Amino acid sequence: MEIVRLHAFTDNYIWGLRHNGQLAVVDPGESAPVLEYLGQSGDRLVAILLTHHHGDHIDGAADLCALGNITVFGPAVDEIPFVTHPLHGGETIALPGFDAEGSFKVLSVPGHTRGHLSYYRPGMVFCGDTLFTLGCGRLFEGSPEQMWQSLSQLSALPVDTQVYCAHEYTYLNLPFALDVEPGNEKLQARAVSLREKISAGIPTVPDTLAAELETNVFLRPAVAEVISAARRFSGDETLTSPVQIFTALREWRNGYKPPVN
Ligand code: ZN
Ligand code: FE
Repeated sequence: MEIVRLHAFTDNYIWGLRHNGQLAVVDPGESAPVLEYLGQSGDRLVAILLTHHHGDHIDGAADLCALGNITVFGPAVDEIPFVTHPLHGGETIALPGFDAEGSFKVLSVPGHTRGHLSYYRPGMVFCGDTLFTLGCGRLFEGSPEQMWQSLSQLSALPVDTQVYCAHEYTYLNLPFALDVEPGNEKLQARAVSLREKISAGIPTVPDTLAAELETNVFLRPAVAEVISAARRFSGDETLTSPVQIFTALREWRNGYKPPVN
């Protein structure tokens, strides 16, 4: 199976999974990039995987379904009209026409939205707007507790898992990460290579879960420097539990303006 990167809007990724001339796409917020790719490659679209109901992830799906005979996986609680296989998490799905490599485990990761799903198979996870490179999704429908649970679930995947998130947000997340944890040498080193990519217009996604565990502050609420930063922001020296620290970090990030220089 080959993974193809398609770009949508300004910073969305539509991930394509290819096998024997068949294509499945994750979160087609627009149909045009997918249709263009199908035209160039001659591939046949067989399946769509949706992580959550936001327009920038699903608005291209209706058009693509018009191609006919498309299996659409998506969160059951979101009640998206064209989903043919509503999922709750915990299921194993098979992309039609793919071999064993088209088998994915469905993870329920609420927080950004109530029904948010991730799709995992060894080596890769498609996590939509839950975990980003150096960041995490905003809490539109879920509680901080839910999001922390969801991020913990993703954190427990094998560390060599490639994190295929749905946005290129690294340039926005990097200044915040450095403000929270300036003493993290792994983060400093990653910042150098990420800045090179960003200024050269090279995608920073995917990267490994190992890199996120070492440098993504939202996965590090037990680290002393992160705890003291969260306490400093909130003015509450009693914050202790991972959920409390995570909650403070998320609130801080919501209103964060990077330093101007
Ligand atoms: Zn979203
Ligand atoms: Fe999004």
